[in-house]
Amino acid sequence: MATINLDDLMEKAKELADAAGKKTGELYELSKYKYECIRLSNEMKKLYEKLGAVVYKQVKTGNGDNKEIDAIASEIDDRKLRIAEIKDIMAEMMNKKICKNCGTANPKDSVFCSQCGAKLEKKEDVCGCCEEDAACDSTESAENSTECSEEEKTEE
Ligand SMILES: [Zn+2]
Repeated sequence: MATINLDDLMEKAKELADAAGKKTGELYELSKYKYECIRLSNEMKKLYEKLGAVVYKQVKTGNGDNKEIDAIASEIDDRKLRIAEIKDIMAEMMNKKICKNCGTANPKDSVFCSQCGAKLEKKEDVCGCCEEDAACDSTESAENSTECSEEEKTEE
């Protein structure tokens, strides 16, 4: 499983905010994002448990229903995406660049990740709504960026 250095990031966020004597508004923003990350992580944990229970039931009954599994999996993906988005926002606030491969926060001007060596994408090359290349930028991301992560909820 990929390591999400969320705790590190939070710790750094706090340190930086404290050190720089940031305005309370920004601190509030950071703690709001932090809370949202924790909430999404907890939701993900529950979804993984649910997924495990469904798979177990299917193994036991020999009755495979991929729809149920797919629905839970896409809910997990939804949380993952939103956590990645929030980490990006937090990194932006802290002048950091998050490695898409390992989640490490690198200095903003880094070209490669200090942890895993992966090439760090330039912010403007990535669509904010789906993290695909800028190709989809022209179509939806500008206006529908908030809808993107909400879509899959209807599946359940
Ligand atoms: Zn990395």
